[in-house]
Amino acid sequence: MTFSDLGLSPKVLSAVEASGYTTPTPIQAAAIPEVLARKDVLGIAQTGTGKTASFTLPMLTRLEQGRARARMPRTLILEPTRELAAQVEESFAKYGQNHKLSMALLIGGVSFGDQDAKLTRGVDVLIATPGRLLDHHERGRLLLTGIEILVIDEADRMLDMGFIPDIERICKLIPAARQTLFFSATMPPEITRLTEQFLRDPVRIEV
Ligand code: AMP
Repeated sequence: MTFSDLGLSPKVLSAVEASGYTTPTPIQAAAIPEVLARKDVLGIAQTGTGKTASFTLPMLTRLEQGRARARMPRTLILEPTRELAAQVEESFAKYGQNHKLSMALLIGGVSFGDQDAKLTRGVDVLIATPGRLLDHHERGRLLLTGIEILVIDEADRMLDMGFIPDIERICKLIPAARQTLFFSATMPPEITRLTEQFLRDPVRIEV
């Protein structure tokens, strides 16, 4: 199995090659074709399994298809912490090196100014922690009605940190016709309930 068997676009494959990866990890081999087929995915996987590329690579390919409605973000990735959000932004930038995409990292602990300026210019990809995302929404600076793909990453850590009500609010601000990719290392009952509420006929991938 190689990356070129998975249906990824040439631009994405060339970034993968530049990263020095030769073989997809099990979660990448299983998830990438499903994301490209627009299926909802429930990925039960720890960090270190190559989980980030399993959603960023096919999302980049999907972003090459179709076009944004005027300056509206098309994808949203939710992370429980600022550090994880920043790491995912780095990965997205690395794998998206051949794409002309604009990204905004919406995390707490920094001023709203730069984040607002980016949102005003228009972005394709949002990477956010739940609290700061909702702050922007409440300030009227953010429309989530153009989101086509929503990623909820590290859901069990979101639960530990008390973010589930925020996640529920955010899910309701995004069109129901979206694709949702949901990752968690463990599946406690509260997380199972969330997947039943917000995933549609998901493909379950456990690594
Ligand atoms: P993650 O589980 O997404 O945090 O990825 C863990 C580490 O594995 C990161 O440092 C990635 O750069 C690296 N990685 C991801 N996919 C591959 C791959 N197919 N081959 C080699 N390294 C990879």
